[in-house]
Amino acid sequence: MIIDLKHIFVNENSSYPLDYSLDLSHISHSGAFPLKKPVVLKGAISNTSSLIRFEAEIIFEFDALCDRCGNPTVKTYKVPVSKSLATSIEGDDSDTILLVPDMKLDVDDFLYTEVVVNLPLKHLCSEDCKGICFKCGKNLNEGKCDCKDDDIDPRLAALRDLLNN
Ligand SMILES: [Zn+2]
Ligand SMILES: [Zn+2]
Repeated sequence: MIIDLKHIFVNENSSYPLDYSLDLSHISHSGAFPLKKPVVLKGAISNTSSLIRFEAEIIFEFDALCDRCGNPTVKTYKVPVSKSLATSIEGDDSDTILLVPDMKLDVDDFLYTEVVVNLPLKHLCSEDCKGICFKCGKNLNEGKCDCKDDDIDPRLAALRDLLNN
């Protein structure tokens, strides 16, 4: 979708509501396609005293295996958008200014870029996921396994004893 913003730029106190969704299921991440549901953009572009603001939220559901234990995990991520729209950049505020030289905003392009840079670096089923036993492969969130930790690194054993005392 391309939004023509000319009427926003010329009309003070006008506003363009955004409630848009885009299929980005083709984006791959670690060999999978985690964006199974459309990405949502909600907010508005508004002209307040000739300042064009783009205030919105990008909401996407990330559906992939937990990085530690491998269980299927779905999490919703929200990325705030807070930018000024301008037809040319004066100075070097390029992080907060989104350039729209022809007063047109390519929303699909914008969403694609924002989602790609905001994909989670670590995707865990829970913050304290215990992962899997590296010896027997058991999911340690479901309980302890029977592996002995006899051949544990002596330095780690010393640390464990310290923690246990
Ligand atoms: Zn996990
Ligand atoms: Zn084990």
